[in-house]
Amino acid sequence: MVYFVGAGPGAPDLITVRGYKLISQADVIIYAGSLVNPELLQAAKPACEIFNSAFMTLEEVIAVMEDAEQRGLLCVRLHTGDPSIYGAIREQMDLLEERGIVYETCPGVSAMFGAAAALNLEYTRPGVSQTVIVSRSAGCTPVPDRESIRKLAVHQSTMVLFLSAGQARTVSQELIGGGYSPDTPAAIVYKATWPEEKTIRCTIGSLPAAAAQNNITKTALIIVGDVLEGKAIRSKLYDPSYATEFRPAVQTEREKGAAEQAAVIAFTREGTRLASRIVSWLREEGWQCDGYSTQKDMPDMVEIKLLSGSLREWTEARFADSRALLFVGAAGIAVRAAAPFIRDKMTDPAVLVIDEAGRHVIPVLSGHVGGANRLAESLADFLGAECVLTTATDVRGRFAVDRFAVDNHLLITDRDKAKGISADILQDKHIGICCPAGWLQAEDLPNQLAECDDPEESRILIDWHSRENGERALRLIPEKAVWIGIGCKKETTEESLQSAFADFLQAQRLDRDALAGFASISLKSEEKGLLAFAGSQKEKILFYTAEQLGSLTGSFSESCFVMQQTGTGNVCERAACLAALENGVFTGQSEAENSSCLIIRKTKYKGITFAAALADRRLMFE
Ligand code: SAH
Repeated sequence: MVYFVGAGPGAPDLITVRGYKLISQADVIIYAGSLVNPELLQAAKPACEIFNSAFMTLEEVIAVMEDAEQRGLLCVRLHTGDPSIYGAIREQMDLLEERGIVYETCPGVSAMFGAAAALNLEYTRPGVSQTVIVSRSAGCTPVPDRESIRKLAVHQSTMVLFLSAGQARTVSQELIGGGYSPDTPAAIVYKATWPEEKTIRCTIGSLPAAAAQNNITKTALIIVGDVLEGKAIRSKLYDPSYATEFRPAVQTEREKGAAEQAAVIAFTREGTRLASRIVSWLREEGWQCDGYSTQKDMPDMVEIKLLSGSLREWTEARFADSRALLFVGAAGIAVRAAAPFIRDKMTDPAVLVIDEAGRHVIPVLSGHVGGANRLAESLADFLGAECVLTTATDVRGRFAVDRFAVDNHLLITDRDKAKGISADILQDKHIGICCPAGWLQAEDLPNQLAECDDPEESRILIDWHSRENGERALRLIPEKAVWIGIGCKKETTEESLQSAFADFLQAQRLDRDALAGFASISLKSEEKGLLAFAGSQKEKILFYTAEQLGSLTGSFSESCFVMQQTGTGNVCERAACLAALENGVFTGQSEAENSSCLIIRKTKYKGITFAAALADRRLMFE
């Protein structure tokens, strides 16, 4: 009898109980010496015959098994990890079958799980990727062309590559060629679960350098995918419930200009009266707002509903559907009610407490990013109450980068850096800020901030490019700032627009979150492919007449052919600029050349052209 046994990834106590028993009962063991931890062999009987298959051919391995079988002995074939993954077991099984030798398999913990444990990684993170592709680069064993890394890369799922660490350069090129952005997170895990284990985090672009610097050519896995990114606050990495419900909701609300949801709750008669005033005020301020109370028999309070169910249930539901929760009553009630649902200051709603006499308004949660401080200040103004601020930067009247980001619709890409900036501000340090030309008025700058032209020197960088690894500055991505102008031939398909656009984003390192929408010429307003493309990108598309496009001043890449076809010498650049000008803060005032807002000039694909323009903003500091 032959047992194929999975030895696990390295640590000897990561074999299964069954596998361990089989080792201790075996009369003959053939182990894969290059990767199986020899410590496991200590469990074998003293009389056990032990062979290292690293020095044997397939025929020699089978001969040992056959001999054991003839002698009626128990033979264990010990493979690293799990035998079913690159274990070359099927060829052994075939030969055993030919010889009538019975065999069985005992599974093991594959290196891919050892590596995930080393990284504390979930391969299938909700909202990020739900698929793991396990593969390898071609070596002595060829890989079918349809499974080449480049082809598998189109899915941009999580990917685990065995037997490929020696080819990091090719792997990186293939992954990027297939569709991953070079700044997609990647990791190399060397000898997972062994004492000499090493984990190296990098990006797909820096994989070759990371492997070379650490001298890693074998016994390592390459793992790639956004699931590796634990810290950065990117929209796609928000808490799963937000990624699926909240995020899209925010976008559609913004597009429709719809109100944000708030909820007010009170627990006493006095409090309920105040809550009713607050509800009316919030509605006037443009919020969609409901009021609740535990008090029955208050018929005059029309906007106030009687709380049905427990306060805990109410709070849980409001955490999921509201951007602001206002408790009229004791702070302790609010804190206890909210505590079980607090998750992350980047995504939690604002929580405010107002005493029932309306003397104090206290933002208790999500002061900056969630906007609680701002809401508390204006509510206190309305009530004539005192606003009790406790966040350090506010108490000391300092600049708070997270609040600044929210106020200006800038996406924070790294919360550790944001924290570092706040800490430095509190220590009276000066911070350089770099942003697109014209966005900043020197007189608006708070004390400790200085404008800085060199992105490398700055600590706060407002820029529409995707984040790069290892950069010093905190990159803030201006949301909905970049307009893409599109020119295309008649009957261009949705698919070709999609693939050209994916390439454009990547080649230009244009961050998806910076996108505001598309623009083109009205001649194309019925093009099915173009409309479907904009729809699939969940972005609006604006159309302008040839005359409108032609009226822009400045230098554009003009072409006679385009002029003949459309009546204007250029579609993509002019459409992008016009959309950016119309949606920027300086609408109609720009005396400079209109083309100055172009950030990416005409870029050609087959039958398609793209250009991009940046809508102007004026950064607000208070
Ligand atoms: N059956 C094994 C894989 C054997 S192929 C399993 O399930 O894990 C050998 C390859 O596995 C190596 O080239 C390396 O890519 C990977 N590997 C094996 N052990 C490893 C470990 N401890 N850490 C990282 N990679 C490992």
